[in-house]
Amino acid sequence: MSLALTGLGVTSGIALGRVHRLTPGELSIPEYHLDDSAIGAELERLHKAFGRSEKFLSGLLARMDKEITDTARDLLEAHRLILRDPMLIDSTAARIRGDRINAEWALVQQANQLQNEFRRLGDDYLASRREDLEQAVGLVRRELADQPALMVSTQVPHRLENIIVVASELGPAEMTILSQRKVAGLITEHGGPWSHSAILARSLEIPMLVGVPRALDLLSEDETVIVDGHYGAVLTGVDEGLLDHYREKREASRRRRLELRRYLARPSLTQDGQAFMLLGNADLLPDFKRCNDAGVEAIGLMRTEYLFLDNDLPDEDTQYRAYRAAVETMQGRPITIRTLDVGGDKLPDMLGFTKGPNPALGLRGLRLSLSLKDLFAQQIRAILRASVHGPVEILLPMLTRTEEVQQARVIVDECRQALQREGLNLDPVIALGGMIETPAAAIAVDALAEELDFLSIGTNDLIQYVLAIDRSDELVDYLYDPTHPAVLFLLKRIQQAAALHGVPVTVCGELAGDERTARLLLGLGLNRLSMPPAALPAIKKSLLDTSAAHCQQIVQQWLDGAFHETQPGLLTRLNPE
Ligand code: PEP
Ligand code: MG
Repeated sequence: MSLALTGLGVTSGIALGRVHRLTPGELSIPEYHLDDSAIGAELERLHKAFGRSEKFLSGLLARMDKEITDTARDLLEAHRLILRDPMLIDSTAARIRGDRINAEWALVQQANQLQNEFRRLGDDYLASRREDLEQAVGLVRRELADQPALMVSTQVPHRLENIIVVASELGPAEMTILSQRKVAGLITEHGGPWSHSAILARSLEIPMLVGVPRALDLLSEDETVIVDGHYGAVLTGVDEGLLDHYREKREASRRRRLELRRYLARPSLTQDGQAFMLLGNADLLPDFKRCNDAGVEAIGLMRTEYLFLDNDLPDEDTQYRAYRAAVETMQGRPITIRTLDVGGDKLPDMLGFTKGPNPALGLRGLRLSLSLKDLFAQQIRAILRASVHGPVEILLPMLTRTEEVQQARVIVDECRQALQREGLNLDPVIALGGMIETPAAAIAVDALAEELDFLSIGTNDLIQYVLAIDRSDELVDYLYDPTHPAVLFLLKRIQQAAALHGVPVTVCGELAGDERTARLLLGLGLNRLSMPPAALPAIKKSLLDTSAAHCQQIVQQWLDGAFHETQPGLLTRLNPE
């Protein structure tokens, strides 16, 4: 029987493959006492389970491709170290001997004791290790239960070219691992198209569907399915005819991508000769390489959250190396590095911080950095050191008021002076820009534009906060409307303020890389668009093929309310073909 499940396509790609369900799976904890004669065998069972778990991790580490899996590598290394820790293995063995209990029971008791100690110590570092301990212990428990290697990062096959992974939800760490193993497609039960895993899927060009209810129940392991990102559908029970049809569609879209790439070399001018500028959003090194290949003029947004994926915070040198590698890859083209923007749907457990009652409105972005000044200064120092190797700008996320910019500037200046005293030859000024992504920043944009050297519009958050819709909640996704008058009003306001104060303004949210909305931005006078490298060719063609004056006229008429209630809508008028 064939079945179509629906969700939200975060990329328009097509994937065909066999289902692999990623389920943590519940394990029971058998508890029993042992005769003296059974203790030796139980100890051996324990050591073998630890040994197999460690071997499993070592094997995985050995096969890892250096390029994008540094984060995954660090994570797995941490798990391996935990498995070797005498506090875990020797103390568990001591419990088996002393209490004459079975290995599973002893292990869980010992792990609980360590967790409680970590909690009592309250140390941020130890708190962040709790999750690692849980995962490493989970691996041994799986071995003891003869259901090995079901830890999330290790429960997927090593080659995923023809595999569609189905999960409840996926975090950036899992996404990195799955991408490294060349997964064909992804389906999650939860999450919205603007969540970070979705953005990562777009940047890694993995076809992905989010918000597919009960996908784990309805899809069976190994069945062949088609993921149609364009229509937001998963097709099951498919016959050869349909598979062929989709293979052809996939091939046609591959050809279209190749054809679109031809436009990249053309000068960035609209039909009426207006210049526009395309920039790249890049987080991981392969993104920078892709942006470079696509010939972007600059990197408009480097999100740095991914460096902080692991539970260990990256130190100054680690960050410096990452920023320097990015700077060197871009060979003289400027990079806008955004300071840490965690909170909301991003890595909420890191830094030992509790989420707070509403993470999207809590201590996120620059608010967090200003409350952890040493961490912020460390990042600024790393960025400034990287700026010696090529042009860099600093971008501050989640602003609501000018005082935040002033405080950040003091820290940037202090870091610069300290580095100069240490003998570093730094530029006397480094541009400091701000994300305009809260209603407060958009409404008070004039004051911010006076304080800042450049503006960058984060439409993902701006739309979330203006329309009061959680960007990762599929239930309210139908309300996501970039043409909502409130959104357009604020975008226009930001553009006008930037023009008035003579500061450049870039759009770096997903609207910039969306074929349906790029002309809308052009029509609003926003002609610097920063997007994932995969989006560049189609956006370039869309803007090459249009006239800026025409787009401006349509958008102005819309803003004036001339045709609000009539069909077709604004986006159809801007993209008639
Ligand atoms: C945005 O909010 O539009 C943005 C670019 O930042 P992020 O998606 O990382 O929150
Ligand atoms: Mg944002």
